[in-house]
Amino acid sequence: MAVPKVNADACTGCEECVEACPAEAITMQNNIAVINADECTECSACVDECPAEAITE
Ligand code: SF4
Ligand code: SF4
Repeated sequence: MAVPKVNADACTGCEECVEACPAEAITMQNNIAVINADECTECSACVDECPAEAITE
């Protein structure tokens, strides 16, 4: 397990990962999801939720 990474080129800005993250570790910056590594608990929920498969571990 590790803090996932967002592929900015693949992110559509749908914000589903923001809603899915139980730690509220994801914010939007310029319509791209950004994961705050200090807040992330490495639960992988965002990886599973992203419809664009833009988040990988
Ligand atoms: S792995 Fe879990 S805690 Fe970390 S950003 Fe994704 S949903 Fe949030
Ligand atoms: S769920 Fe995926 S496509 Fe949607 S904002 Fe998050 S990283 Fe981007």
